[in-house]
Amino acid sequence: MTMQTLRDLLVHELKDLYSAEKQLTKALPKMAKAATNESLQEAITKHLEETENQVQRLEEAFAALGIATRGAKCDAMEGLIKEAQKAMKETSDDAVLDAALIAEAQRVEHYEMAGYGCARAFAEQLGENEIADLLQATLDEEAAANEKLNDIALSEVNPAAMEAGGGEEDEGEESEEMEEEEAEV
Ligand code: FE
Ligand code: FE
Ligand code: FE
Ligand code: ZN
Repeated sequence: MTMQTLRDLLVHELKDLYSAEKQLTKALPKMAKAATNESLQEAITKHLEETENQVQRLEEAFAALGIATRGAKCDAMEGLIKEAQKAMKETSDDAVLDAALIAEAQRVEHYEMAGYGCARAFAEQLGENEIADLLQATLDEEAAANEKLNDIALSEVNPAAMEAGGGEEDEGEESEEMEEEEAEV
């Protein structure tokens, strides 16, 4: 589709977001299944429900504009999902895998936040307030999902990942240091 107007661009952005969300509804169940931390699993599952809702909001926007939902594929989301799949395959320690899943999921949320933020601004500029409100509602959910992932990483997953594999060596070094310190005293 050639884009000549801001309205064309808004339609393009909506279709890209629709493709992104549809891809996510298929990827998130796999990520939830791979997650070992319970809070993380819950957060991903909750966001899957939200994502299904977000698909519906976009369908409402398409209906309001009188356009079809099809016509654009979000290549970026395909790439982000591929990276998440790679992380799931290549990470063997549970806690490190959780940390990797969060890193991938936060990339996804930031990508979506950028997309919804731009689309909302276009809708506002065009005086499409109903659409702008729908996009803002989703943007708020994406931001909250990102925050939640961040909290889980900092409070649970990253500290647990510190204990994994190579960490043993560090612990050894640390206790040697402590012994030295004790010896000095
Ligand atoms: Fe989303
Ligand atoms: Fe995209
Ligand atoms: Fe990347
Ligand atoms: Zn999201």
